[in-house]
Amino acid sequence: MQQWGQVSLVGAGPGDPELLTLKAVRAIARADVILVDDLVSEEVLVHKRDSARVVYVGKRGGCASTPQEFIEKLMIAEARAGRQVVRLKGGDPFVFGRGGEERQHLIDQGLTVEVINGITSGMAAAASLGVPLTHREYSHGCIFVTGHGAKESDGTDWSALAEVCRQQRLTLVVYMGVANAGSIQQGLLKGGVSPDTPVAIVQSATLSGQINWLTSISQLCHEIQVRQVKSPAIFIIGEVAKLAESSVLSDKFLHEKKLGYLHY
Ligand code: SAH
Repeated sequence: MQQWGQVSLVGAGPGDPELLTLKAVRAIARADVILVDDLVSEEVLVHKRDSARVVYVGKRGGCASTPQEFIEKLMIAEARAGRQVVRLKGGDPFVFGRGGEERQHLIDQGLTVEVINGITSGMAAAASLGVPLTHREYSHGCIFVTGHGAKESDGTDWSALAEVCRQQRLTLVVYMGVANAGSIQQGLLKGGVSPDTPVAIVQSATLSGQINWLTSISQLCHEIQVRQVKSPAIFIIGEVAKLAESSVLSDKFLHEKKLGYLHY
């Protein structure tokens, strides 16, 4: 009987192809089939074999995203045919990447699944500004949260989160927050976050078009509108965000990336 291939759920990192792990490079290099998700840089495919089949399954580039069911069926069929399958996801596959559901589904089908970490965009965004997500003086930890479906009925209670972050001195890293910035801002203010709390907005972190802004929670929506902030973007909310200020003065990279000091 022919042996089944393995499926690797691989994090492609935030964008800069140099942030790929060695393990990811090796998985891409041995893959027969590569399914490429949204927000994966084309450059990471230089590591693939010439004969590898590449299937784009993301929704950017004008096409509707490929249904999850089709993606899973394809991975199962290819692996059962003995092929090595790589599922490339932006950032880390287990951070808002549906990696958990996919892994479980594949395992339920009897397949062997390997998960390879990628650098998640929230961490890359912070590092690119010189902002530490934790800091002994300002932040005891951090929370990664999705801003998608930010209405309270959809799950995230922003005022409750605000209280926890305030009391426990935690940094909030918001993914997919642009469209719902209004609810996020309102909820956090209602929960007692100081209106002056710094917010770093990082658009297209680690990509050539990266743009960064520093604002405050009270100005978040206004800034997003005025600056026409677009997805993909990360919000880093909390005292640590103000540390971006000192880095920019000494860091040419940030200077070139137009870090705007607004309202400070
Ligand atoms: N698994 C991914 C997240 C996927 S959800 C990860 O670990 O990074 C998609 C969201 O991630 C985007 O809406 C945006 O909030 C964030 N994101 C992904 N790449 C980004 C980048 N290069 N710059 C800023 N935000 C990014």
